[in-house]
Amino acid sequence: MSPDGNGQSSRSFPPLPERLPVDVFDSHCHLDIVDTPVQEQLRSAKAAGVTRIVTIGCDLPSSRFAVDTAAEFDDVYAAVAIHPNETTGISDAVLEDVARLAAHPKVRAIGETGLDYYRDWAPKDDQHRAFRAHIAIAKRTGRALVVHDRDAHDDVLRILEEEGAPGTVVFHCYSGDAAMAEICADRGYLMSFAGNVTFKNAEPLREALRAAPLDLVLVETDAPFLTPIPHRGKPNASYLIPYTVRAMAEVKGVDVAEMCAAIAANGERAFGPW
Ligand SMILES: [Zn+2]
Ligand SMILES: [Zn+2]
Repeated sequence: MSPDGNGQSSRSFPPLPERLPVDVFDSHCHLDIVDTPVQEQLRSAKAAGVTRIVTIGCDLPSSRFAVDTAAEFDDVYAAVAIHPNETTGISDAVLEDVARLAAHPKVRAIGETGLDYYRDWAPKDDQHRAFRAHIAIAKRTGRALVVHDRDAHDDVLRILEEEGAPGTVVFHCYSGDAAMAEICADRGYLMSFAGNVTFKNAEPLREALRAAPLDLVLVETDAPFLTPIPHRGKPNASYLIPYTVRAMAEVKGVDVAEMCAAIAANGERAFGPW
């Protein structure tokens, strides 16, 4: 979840881009807050070559929505968690509810969890306690961990080390630099790039993508946020991923089909067979 989703619904969605040559999936989408019915989101995504979507939980209602939606639609997988911004005074009972939801077979990740020092909506102590608890749930349930890291790189990396990271860790909307990408690569953490990698001022992010091994790279929309160039400022949805993937292929110096194939294979490794 990104903070700058204001006024999205009053603006119209961009047209469908050219279809990708190989099917990919969206590793991080908020299907519940994109201003379009889920069925329509899946249809437009498929037309763009985005055939699978992980929908993310930020609190108990959105986590329940994720589970219900994944249960209803074959091409949707769920992630469940309490977002770091929502962790003020978080109780063990809430964390137990997250763990219970995680038992559903279509839940493939615990997320989004992590640390957000950009927004001070929740005290750091609460964020740390919740992050550690989510790491434990991911390990106990064998699910991937989807990490939200906003201006908190050092503490996120430290806590993952202290707790012992789950088998699969995904940094969603990766925002570190190239040096951090090398640390992530050493530890086998996946880095999921969002539409902001296309922004003009995002050269440091593109340097991080250059440093990230192709077999640890994912793509996401974080929709309805972070719409890629050339539609920045318009609402985002999964069908706009081709802009991000094509930009990523250019940065990596590979053709678009190879980029897509890597993303699809990495996604299957991270979230399990579809
Ligand atoms: Zn998100
Ligand atoms: Zn996030």
